[in-house]
Amino acid sequence: MGDPLPPVQATLAFASPLDDGGRWAGILTAAVPGLRVVDATTAPAPAEADYALVFRPRPDFFREMPRLKAIFALSAGVDGLLSRPDLPADVPVIRMVDPSQAAAMNQFALATCLAELRNLPAYAAQQRDQRWIRHPVRLAADTAVTVLGLGVLGRGMADGLAAAGFRVSGWSRAPREDAGIRCHHGLEGLAAAVAGADIVLSMLPLTSETRGLFDRRFFAGMKRGAVLINLGRGEQVVEDDLVAALDQGRLSAAWLDVFAIEPLPHDHPYWRHPAIRVTPHVAGTSRPETAATAVAANIQRITRGLSPLNAVDRQRGY
Ligand code: NDP
Repeated sequence: MGDPLPPVQATLAFASPLDDGGRWAGILTAAVPGLRVVDATTAPAPAEADYALVFRPRPDFFREMPRLKAIFALSAGVDGLLSRPDLPADVPVIRMVDPSQAAAMNQFALATCLAELRNLPAYAAQQRDQRWIRHPVRLAADTAVTVLGLGVLGRGMADGLAAAGFRVSGWSRAPREDAGIRCHHGLEGLAAAVAGADIVLSMLPLTSETRGLFDRRFFAGMKRGAVLINLGRGEQVVEDDLVAALDQGRLSAAWLDVFAIEPLPHDHPYWRHPAIRVTPHVAGTSRPETAATAVAANIQRITRGLSPLNAVDRQRGY
């Protein structure tokens, strides 16, 4: 048995227009006895709050709480939080790391890669036109996938794809020694990482270095007829360059789950492009049942005077 946990006399302000505050509060207060959770999504935030757990809170939200010890993001990506003018400079920002989300992302990555491999979007289109055309069968073993971003989520996807038989390589910012996967790193390693890939799957965070990364030059360096799957952030894609690369046949398809503007506007050309598959930012969402455990554990760590896990490096931007 470990040491008994010290009582937590603290207040957490919850704010998210998308998540069910009541569900989160129930799980958090059960996991952290003594924690008071206030849903401040539309109500005023408690000035005495020690913690905030947020997804896109209203402007100036953080200025309502001068005593914050930590800010928890309800999402794995923190680009939106880090760019907020009201974000206090010296309060740790902790991103969401949730095993359910990782499982969902892995399965989505596998589903999209297999769908492209076995021409499922083409068969769906053919059925609409009542056309009987059989495409050659390709196996995962014949297919090279490069995963851009080998973090918590990207690394898990790379492992899942390798286990399904794909030939997997990866790309990260710093060198990595991950066994079983060929890893490239840094801008200087990008061309080699993508050159031979049949599928390039991006799981990169949005930072000043990755914004606009997928541009004309990037597409020109991809294998002719390759597929881009972007599950990271929409702002990483130069939209006109992607459409041009598809129209020219340089890429055969793009699977996009994230967009610079969400929901994707009705008149956006992506909607009707025959080679673009649009999904509405569904690759992975966190579940309170598993995600709240990570938040609770971090609150317990902070209470014990330990540094929180999964804190964002603001300098790096992820
Ligand atoms: P992590 O922070 O764990 O990993 C980020 C990875 O990206 C690391 O491997 C990092 O390299 C790499 N990276 C960052 N910047 C660069 C760069 N300039 N060049 C090369 N590699 C770089 O993040 P997660 O895996 O948890 O999440 C990644 C992103 O996925 C989130 O930020 C979010 O935008 C997106 N996301 C999308 C979801 C969806 O539903 N579509 C759901 C959840 C997240 P290194 O290892 O060297 O640090």
